[in-house]
Amino acid sequence: MKDIQGALSQFLDQVQRRNPGEPEFHQAVKEVLESLRPVLSARPEFIEEGILDRLVEPERQVIFRVPWVDDQGRVRVNRGYRIQFNSAIGPYKGGLRFHPSVNLGILKFLAFEQIFKNSLTSLPMGGGKGGADFDPKGKSDGEVMRFCQSFMTELARHIGADTDVPAGDIGVGAREIGFLFGQYKRLRNEFTGVLTGKNLGWGGSLIRPEATGYGAVYFAQEMLATRDSSLEGTRCVISGSGNVAQFTAEKLLDLGAVPVSFSDSDGTIYDAEGITREKLEFVKTLKNVKRGRIREYADKFSAEFRADATPWAIPCDCVFPSATQNELDEDDARTLLDGGCRVVSEGANMPCTPEAVDLFVKKGILYGPGKAANAGGVSTSGLEMSQNSMRMSWSREEVDGRLREIMTNIHRNCHETAETYGAPGNYVIGANIAGFVKVAEAMRDQGVV
Ligand code: NDP
Repeated sequence: MKDIQGALSQFLDQVQRRNPGEPEFHQAVKEVLESLRPVLSARPEFIEEGILDRLVEPERQVIFRVPWVDDQGRVRVNRGYRIQFNSAIGPYKGGLRFHPSVNLGILKFLAFEQIFKNSLTSLPMGGGKGGADFDPKGKSDGEVMRFCQSFMTELARHIGADTDVPAGDIGVGAREIGFLFGQYKRLRNEFTGVLTGKNLGWGGSLIRPEATGYGAVYFAQEMLATRDSSLEGTRCVISGSGNVAQFTAEKLLDLGAVPVSFSDSDGTIYDAEGITREKLEFVKTLKNVKRGRIREYADKFSAEFRADATPWAIPCDCVFPSATQNELDEDDARTLLDGGCRVVSEGANMPCTPEAVDLFVKKGILYGPGKAANAGGVSTSGLEMSQNSMRMSWSREEVDGRLREIMTNIHRNCHETAETYGAPGNYVIGANIAGFVKVAEAMRDQGVV
């Protein structure tokens, strides 16, 4: 296969034609395929044997009706999904997202990314993702419970501890996982590790809530170490104020860094004096218990609130995008670079647009793509599955130690792979190639399935 470039662009055209109206999925496929060029040149069998053709086609996609009754007694209907994308190296694994923006293309992009992320963790997990266009914001606990029960009534047929093990994502936290697990147990009459992110008292793992945020900080630490630098004393911008954002801030504080922002879909708070542990506890209660808005932080601590704004205009050393996809574009990237930013570690999935990524890579700053930098969450889900299978619980130190080690290994793997393929320091190429090769080889071993 001499003309790899021609073959790839033809292939991408075909992906777009076969999956109309799914721009986020096209974006994720393009990013991965373009960085695979060096490995596809060296190993043309991956194209010739149809590995790529199979890789971009989900093994199974389930779309279903989710009817439920609101507090006023009205019948409401949402759309539920589960994408079982690739099981070459293990049972499907990936979160559930409840957000009004959820559609097939967004979940396919997330499930596709998950294939390579899970491969990088070195744990036996395939790629999947699911969710619904349900908005938990403003719903009562009773409404959320009834929705989750209806959602699981259909999903239960398609998942299982050895088949597909969902977890949380945007809009799905401990409360939702509890309701989903309760309904699965009731339908199946079995207590198994069918979901991760469970509460501690009934099969959850210590450190799972913290893992994605902690992992993104560990990844930044590893990147900085390659330049004999550290996070200590750095000013760090964080977007979002949910699970990933909160525990990113917590680990940054542990390491002597200074988090200065949070955001939500209403705007950004900027605390120039730094977000302390006490202020972070306020945010946790505000978001996880009271389910309030981030602007209340500004009222409480006399920080600045920027309505409808993202945090990218705040001068900083490091940035941890931790809200959602495509939240940081090329102009934002330029503003960040002008403000002194030299590290980007993605807690969210695909938060930077391709143009922003290109600029970070071109400028040679430390840029850690989500599929590597935020893999701590799914890694610790993998550790939760192991503990469930063994019917044991590990200590906080044990799980955190394993998480730390996994993040170090992911970093090393990405760094070395990038060097091997002639792109030193390019974590996009390193993560995509390292994640892909393991899955592609497993697919070859298992024949045309
Ligand atoms: P949460 O629901 O806990 O928090 C999401 C945060 O992002 C909220 O502050 C939310 O604000 C904000 N947000 C979401 N959508 C938008 C939007 N369209 N515009 C502006 N702000 C938005 O989710 P998580 O913290 O779990 O997830 C955040 C990101 O991290 C996602 O990209 C997710 O895929 C990724 N991720 C999560 C993992 C996990 O373990 N939870 C693992 C790996 C990646 P608001 O409340 O106003 O909507």
